[in-house]
Amino acid sequence: MKILSSLITALLTITTLFSQTPPGLSLIRQEDLKKDLYALADAHFNGRSAGTTDELKAAAWLGEQFRAIGLKPAGDDGTYFQFFNLWRNTISANSFVQINNTVYTIWRDIAISQMANVSLNAPVLYLGDAAMIDTNTVDVKGKIVALVANKKDINLDVSLLTWRYNRYINTKYGLPLLRKGAAGIIFIADATAEQSWGDATENFKRGTYDLDGGPNVDVTSTIPILWVHATAKKEFENNTATIKANLVVSKYSFPSVNVVGKVDGTDPKLKSEFLLYSGHTDAHGIRNAINGDSIFYGADDNASVDVAMMACARAFVKYPGKRSVIFVIHGAEERGLFGSRYFSSHPTVPLNNIVTVLNGDMIGRNNSDSAVILGQIPPHRNSTELVNMALAANKEGPKFILDTTWDSPSHIEGWYFRSDHLPYARLGIPSLMYTTLLHPDYHTPLDRADKINYPKLKKMTDWMYRTGWKVANAATRPAKDANFKLER
Ligand SMILES: [Zn+2]
Repeated sequence: MKILSSLITALLTITTLFSQTPPGLSLIRQEDLKKDLYALADAHFNGRSAGTTDELKAAAWLGEQFRAIGLKPAGDDGTYFQFFNLWRNTISANSFVQINNTVYTIWRDIAISQMANVSLNAPVLYLGDAAMIDTNTVDVKGKIVALVANKKDINLDVSLLTWRYNRYINTKYGLPLLRKGAAGIIFIADATAEQSWGDATENFKRGTYDLDGGPNVDVTSTIPILWVHATAKKEFENNTATIKANLVVSKYSFPSVNVVGKVDGTDPKLKSEFLLYSGHTDAHGIRNAINGDSIFYGADDNASVDVAMMACARAFVKYPGKRSVIFVIHGAEERGLFGSRYFSSHPTVPLNNIVTVLNGDMIGRNNSDSAVILGQIPPHRNSTELVNMALAANKEGPKFILDTTWDSPSHIEGWYFRSDHLPYARLGIPSLMYTTLLHPDYHTPLDRADKINYPKLKKMTDWMYRTGWKVANAATRPAKDANFKLER
């Protein structure tokens, strides 16, 4: 009997190690994913905007889920939380702008895309159509200039154009004028900027965010950049306009937080190494309404991944791997990957012991049979071994048709650079990002829990778990590719 039972134990161990079905797979349940997602993407959390109490409230909920699932706290000071400081700068309500004899109401009549602490009382030099300006010869030194935005040669096919158009115009026309010494820039909206006004001002209102020591902590010495409506063009055209303004920047700090839990590995040696699952808490808060609803629920982006991580956590708590697994739901991703930048520079476990990062961003939408991993092909691939594990896991489980076009450096979205695996990959940690790609509800109030494709979310979660199980139990950690170098 003794021999038989140890034989059975040995057989079971071998079966567990080599079977294509990891032991906790049945603990990843569509019902749990759906229930958790409806809770996290609920109106209760007001769109979980970073730099507000709504994000903190959602993080507290996630920490409580980690506790209930049985993860050990792995944040700071024996808690599930790693707080960090966000420095914010916003335009104060005390600010004032007058052009000629008219006071402009900030955000309605005039938008401030680059803040400055300045008092102005000066003439405005009208430069006309931005596309017609010769920036080599124009003399703008010390002057406040006005020019009409022009979409010529700007790629309008990108996602979220209304969020980005002002920045594209500024990069194309504003920066050369600043380099020539302009003391202020007033962009006059073209039709595309008019369409963008609502979304752009929502971003401008929120101002800048940065971590301690970052370049946006102190914005007081910058040059003001303003936007006025197309109808204001007549104020500038005859080149006699004046601007009187007093812009006041208010600077303050506000906490954001990473939610961190772990499962210890079973192997006495390998348990000091960690597989890291990554998602983000924040969405976009409350902004311009669509169909009367102004809450940006962030169901796909990124509650889908957070609930997938909770499901993977249930599986690993019940059936730990040889290596330990750490779950990090980052704060303030949407404001500039701040949570992952902070955790990767202040890790709560030794950075060299993090063997892999499996990040997810938006894994619950679009066709049931297709998906994407970013980091699959060079120059984004930093571990061929890890990619092969993910590809094998896909074959054994969900069998998605994989679209690699989004991983190309020439893809217009540049999505590899837009989620939380990036700071870890830059540090040389084998990293992948799982996604089911963009959709028209991305970054709108329509990204709701009822729009999620739950069977697909279950398949994506299976895939992330199956990959993680391989990483957690592999004899050696995934090797880094020798020549990894990102294109930017
Ligand atoms: Zn996201």
